[in-house]
Amino acid sequence: MRKIVFLLIALAVLSGCGSRTQQVDTAAAPEDFEYNVDRFYDLAILRYRVPDFESLTTEQKALVYYLNEAALWGRDILFDQNGKYNLSIRRACEALYEAYDGDRQDEQFRLFEMYLKRVWFSNGIHHHYASDKFVPECTQEWFTSQCVKYGIEVSEDLLRVMFDPTVMPKNVCQDAGKDLVLNSACNYYEGINQKEAEAWYEAHKDTSDEPMWIGLNSKLIKNDKGEVVERVYRIEKDGLYREALKHVVENLEKAKAYAENDQQRKVIELLIEFNKSGNLQKFNEYAIAWVKDLDSRVDFVNGFTEVYGDPLGITGAWESMVNFKNVAATERTRILSANAQWFEDNSPTAKQYKKSECRGVSAKVITATILAGGCYPATPIGINLPNANWIRKNYGSKSVTIENLTEAYYQAAQGDGFNEEFMLSDTERELAKKYGGLMSDVHVDLHECLGHGSGQLMPGVTKDNLKEHGSTLEEARADLFSLYYMADMKLVELGISPDENAYKSQYYQQLMNGAMTQLVRVELGKNIEESHMRDRALIANWVLAHADSVQPEAEIIVENNKHYLRINDYQGVRRLFGQLLAIVQEVVSTGDYQRACDLVETYAVKVDPDLHRELLARYQPLGIAPYKGFVNPVYTPIFDENGKIKDVTIDYTEGYVAQHLRYSHDYSPLPSINK
Ligand code: ZN
Repeated sequence: MRKIVFLLIALAVLSGCGSRTQQVDTAAAPEDFEYNVDRFYDLAILRYRVPDFESLTTEQKALVYYLNEAALWGRDILFDQNGKYNLSIRRACEALYEAYDGDRQDEQFRLFEMYLKRVWFSNGIHHHYASDKFVPECTQEWFTSQCVKYGIEVSEDLLRVMFDPTVMPKNVCQDAGKDLVLNSACNYYEGINQKEAEAWYEAHKDTSDEPMWIGLNSKLIKNDKGEVVERVYRIEKDGLYREALKHVVENLEKAKAYAENDQQRKVIELLIEFNKSGNLQKFNEYAIAWVKDLDSRVDFVNGFTEVYGDPLGITGAWESMVNFKNVAATERTRILSANAQWFEDNSPTAKQYKKSECRGVSAKVITATILAGGCYPATPIGINLPNANWIRKNYGSKSVTIENLTEAYYQAAQGDGFNEEFMLSDTERELAKKYGGLMSDVHVDLHECLGHGSGQLMPGVTKDNLKEHGSTLEEARADLFSLYYMADMKLVELGISPDENAYKSQYYQQLMNGAMTQLVRVELGKNIEESHMRDRALIANWVLAHADSVQPEAEIIVENNKHYLRINDYQGVRRLFGQLLAIVQEVVSTGDYQRACDLVETYAVKVDPDLHRELLARYQPLGIAPYKGFVNPVYTPIFDENGKIKDVTIDYTEGYVAQHLRYSHDYSPLPSINK
């Protein structure tokens, strides 16, 4: 299954496996670019840049433009998939929002507005992450009276769905023992229970070597005779969502004319055929062709993809993301990989634990141009597709990181008060501002491209020797490899790091995060459980415990009754990272379970309750939104006299409300109730 990574909590450090990020050309970020757009409930809305769009050829820009359009036309589909009444509710609320001519500062109106903003964010009436239904905080009386006043029809049923918390309380029910289909509000099944759905899937399963993903693009319903039947998402034969898919295809047809090469043209053609016929054999052909399309600068995902929204994990939620390769960042991962052997040979680990032949992993870094459906407004920062295991095994997969989105997360977090509260002084904050975004990307590069691939196990040792501590130690090994080399002049030589001071921003952030600030994600009274968090705690606490007792390289100090990290000797910290790397590599290479237990239990699990309480008390007043999403840029084509695109311009000024209202006006072809 594709790993998608949503950033749940704003932290100064973005990293972790599956959330690969690369270096950003932060120097190019215009001073006045406003990353923060809106803030309501538990959500923050950000804006992302599309750097280097100008470097695309006219044909590539036109291709992006039409693929973007194809993306936007699918928006209604996901609303309907997420719940039968979502489009009706969205439309009633939008109608009221636009008709309302009273005081927009009125409390009831503001509460209603927040509800509508949340509906847009969730593509429906259930929390996008927690899956619980949320109800309007304005009163039902106020809402109905306003609807009457402006002539907006809202049925009793619809009001119940909106306001009664016991109606459709969960979007996706995962409680063992319950009927998952009947207890899920999502719209993938109608009039049938879990048993009936499972029986249908079982009876229609494709058992061939290259199976079709039966159910990927359909809803199961009961017909007049009481039989379970499939309503396929397709244009032909009166298919479900045909009104939207027609527009998707229309724009894919236009995009096809600008395809960069034959392979990409084939991908688009097969996707068009699939949308028309709903034939899953065509979908397989499309997915394989897509995996093989490696040479194009522009790439895209468009269609029924992730299955988390279906309690049985079969049917794909509609999503789209269009992107182009970030050439400079992709080149940096290639440079690191090409030098993998040098890093291996010069690492502080013992010779017998080094790989004699070391190959790095290079990765594709992309720039997103549009987010839609399941990728909008909440967005993954890494994508790994296709989902069919046999295609992955026989044909491979594409794994990418979306650097302009990680850049936006990082930049938007500047000035949210976090660094002001937790960093010792302006010196550290200046380092973070100047180098932080860049070096956290470099850190993930080193971790992923080199760290995990370094070192070797002794004969007879397997990954399983370290049992429950295996992943913590493996992550610590990769992090330490990265941290050790981040301060090496080799990185400046290779052009990965800008100068000899840049690494200090990561050293400070990593130690502060590992020893202190990551605890804001842990509930008071609990230990550290998650392996990436344990890895970071292990490194920070070990370094602090092994610092010199007279002249500590790094220490935790107390000022005004608050704890802060202070680094006195950055090169000294590097030496400590090197020592710990040698130890961790030995533990992993020899599969020394006892030493792994000692390391993890001493440094990585326990939480000082007084410090923990203090950190939470300092974090909470900052009011940092736990969930974030985006608005898209607006693209406008400029045509020549023959009706051909001669350029496409980008505008970043559209706000959150304006964007959703525009999408609902211009890209909303589905009926309110789809059968
Ligand atoms: Zn990792």
